[in-house]
Amino acid sequence: MTVRAYVGLGSNLANPLQQLAAAVTALATLPQSQLVAQSPFYRSAPVGPQDQPDFINGAVALETRLPALALLDQLQAIEQSQGRQRIEHWGPRTLDLDLLLYGKETITCDRLRVPHPELVNRDFVLQPLLDLDPALTLPDGRALADLRPLCPDNRLQRLDPQPATPPQAD
Ligand code: ATP
Ligand code: CA
Ligand code: CA
Ligand code: CA
Repeated sequence: MTVRAYVGLGSNLANPLQQLAAAVTALATLPQSQLVAQSPFYRSAPVGPQDQPDFINGAVALETRLPALALLDQLQAIEQSQGRQRIEHWGPRTLDLDLLLYGKETITCDRLRVPHPELVNRDFVLQPLLDLDPALTLPDGRALADLRPLCPDNRLQRLDPQPATPPQAD
């Protein structure tokens, strides 16, 4: 049996667009999983410390057979492979991968809370999720489309579609 999982991507260091593109490539090769869809990317003002660059954010949908904690292990391995260093809470980072939703499951353990507890407060998470599926709901039944207008404004800007391959010079 597979589960539809949603992963949020964020970066504000070392060429964020390239970080996100590399992360999507890594997510597409996860074991026992398929990348189903990728959202547009957005630029947003940082949460927490303001003395850091804007973030680029996006989300992907996966169809996976990995248990949630095994998926979290995989996400953290990708963060590490892209040079993630944990210095300051909510500080700048090369790559942040959050497990936003895991089917209709609610998970509460030391390492993992799903749905991601801040999901409903972040337009840079809600918007890419709605791009992937406008009918998405939380395990408690609330529709993300209804929550989107209620969440604070992080000055979200949709970026142009990212080319799958670099433009050819001629
Ligand atoms: P936030 O969670 O508010 O977005 P953050 O992404 O900056 O903050 P991190 O430093 O990346 O936080 O992660 C701290 C810990 O959060 C991780 O070590 C992980 O075990 C835990 N965690 C709990 N729930 C989740 C989740 N849904 N997705 C990813 N990590 C989670
Ligand atoms: Ca695969
Ligand atoms: Ca995060
Ligand atoms: Ca995180």
